[in-house]
Amino acid sequence: MIAGVGDTTDKRRSVLRDPPSDTKHVAAPNDFAEALIGRSYISWSSIGTYMRCPMRFRLQYVLGQRPESVSSSLIFGSAIHSALEEHFACLFTGTAAPSLDELLVVYDRVWREETQPVRFGKTETPESLRDLAGRVLTAFQSHDVAALDRSCRLIGVEEELRGAIIDGVPDVLGRIDLMILTETSLRIIDFKTSRSAWSASKITEAAPQQLLYSQLARPIADAFGVPIEIEWIVLTKAKQPKVERHTLTPDPASIRRTNGMVRDVWRAICGEYFHINPSVMNCSTCPHKTTCAALEG
Ligand code: SF4
Repeated sequence: MIAGVGDTTDKRRSVLRDPPSDTKHVAAPNDFAEALIGRSYISWSSIGTYMRCPMRFRLQYVLGQRPESVSSSLIFGSAIHSALEEHFACLFTGTAAPSLDELLVVYDRVWREETQPVRFGKTETPESLRDLAGRVLTAFQSHDVAALDRSCRLIGVEEELRGAIIDGVPDVLGRIDLMILTETSLRIIDFKTSRSAWSASKITEAAPQQLLYSQLARPIADAFGVPIEIEWIVLTKAKQPKVERHTLTPDPASIRRTNGMVRDVWRAICGEYFHINPSVMNCSTCPHKTTCAALEG
C-alpha cells in the first residue's frame, strides 16, 4: 500500500462509524459529506465519478489525490465553455458580442492556466486544437443559438445553485451554463463539445445531471410561473463543426428515477464501498492510474 492511500482521518472514521441518528435533519447529510469528502455538498461530477469507478472517487474525493495528468479534451471543452460564457456574459450586460479573436483570448487563457501535464491524442497538438477551437467558435457565432431572440430574457450565465433536493443526501451543488426565460418556459442550457453528433442514448446518458439541475432551478421557474425545459447546445469537434440543439422536458418519473440513483450512490459512498472498476473505457482516461496500480487488494 502506498503512503496516504489507506489513511482516513479519525474524524472521518468516527462520523462514518457513528452516522448522525437524525437522518431527516437536513444538516446531517451535509455534515457527513464534510467529514468524508471535505465539502458539505455533492456535485454531479462526483456522483458520475463514483458510478464510473468507486476507487477513482475515493482517490479523488476522499483522499484528495491530485490528478497525474489532464486530458486535452477536458481542457479543450472547458476552454470552449469559458469562451461561450464570455459571449453570453457580454449579452447579459448589454455589451456587444465578442469577436472571434476575443473568444480565442479566453480559450488561450484557460490553456495557460492549466498546471497539470496534458495528455494529447495521437494526432493532436496544441496548434491543431487551437485551429479546431477557431472553427468551433466560428460555427457557434454563425448559428442562431449565439443570438438572443427578442422574446427571450437572459436570466443567468454560469449560475451556481445549491439545494437539499433529495432526502438523506447532502445538498446538490450545480452550475447552470445558461438560463433563458421564454414566453412559455425557463430553459436551462448546458454547453457540450463532442467528437460526433449526439445520439438518443447520449441524451439519455446526459439527462440525470440536468434533471438534478432542473430541481435546483425550480424555485426560479416557479417565481416566473413557467415550467422548465432542458436544452443542450452541442458543438461537434469535426473538420466542419456543427451546432446541435437537443431538448428534454423533465417529467416526474425521470426525476424520481434520477433521485433514486443519486440516493443509492450516496448510500454506497457512506458505506465506503470503494472497489476498483477496471475497464478500457474507465482506465484509459483515469488521472489516477499509477496510484491505483500501486494499491494492494
Ligand atoms: S485506473 Fe481504472 S480501476 Fe483504477 S481507479 Fe482509475 S478507473 Fe478505477
